[in-house]
Amino acid sequence: MRNIVIFGAPGSGKGTQSDLLVKHYGFDHISTGDVLRGEIKNGTTLGQTAKSYIDKGQLIPDELMIDILAATYDALPKQAGVIFDGFPRTIPQAEALKKMLAERNTAVHAMLELDVPNEMLIERLINRGKTSGRADDNEETIAKRLEVYNAQTQPLIAWYEAEGLRHAVKGYGELDEINAALRAVIDAL
Ligand code: AMP
Repeated sequence: MRNIVIFGAPGSGKGTQSDLLVKHYGFDHISTGDVLRGEIKNGTTLGQTAKSYIDKGQLIPDELMIDILAATYDALPKQAGVIFDGFPRTIPQAEALKKMLAERNTAVHAMLELDVPNEMLIERLINRGKTSGRADDNEETIAKRLEVYNAQTQPLIAWYEAEGLRHAVKGYGELDEINAALRAVIDAL
């Protein structure tokens, strides 16, 4: 049972690479973005709150996000392991994740960081916007999301480095090559 954080900027390929890892290892996958989009689609109160932040490219407040994460985690079968995709995005979220897993007698076993140059991220997100149907994949919101990433999420790289959990991988090139690099880290855990 392994708990893996997949980390990177918006457009770094976290979702795509998580899907490949899920197929290979049989992990459960928590994408907090997908959870929130599901709430929006179902028209829940939580969805309405989330939409007001997502449409502006801002983060959902930590307290709310931490509760959502814990509820999602507890509902999973958790056999082979869990991939956390899009969470944590702030240092308080990383601390909360550590605490939540410790309370369940487990821990994060690795943080896998996908490194992609900034100009590639913008190009990927604009291209994704043509087919994703995601309201936040437009040029203005993309710029805001990258700004939020740099200010609030990037500090987690140093945080996970200090925890001894950070593994950085080149996040561009062939999908299979990127996935092989991620699998090599997981297999060595
Ligand atoms: P994603 O699909 O991971 O790109 O997430 C889309 C949007 O959902 C983000 O831009 C945030 O507004 C919101 N979101 C997803 N995960 C989190 C999180 N861990 N903390 C705060 N907001 C989040």
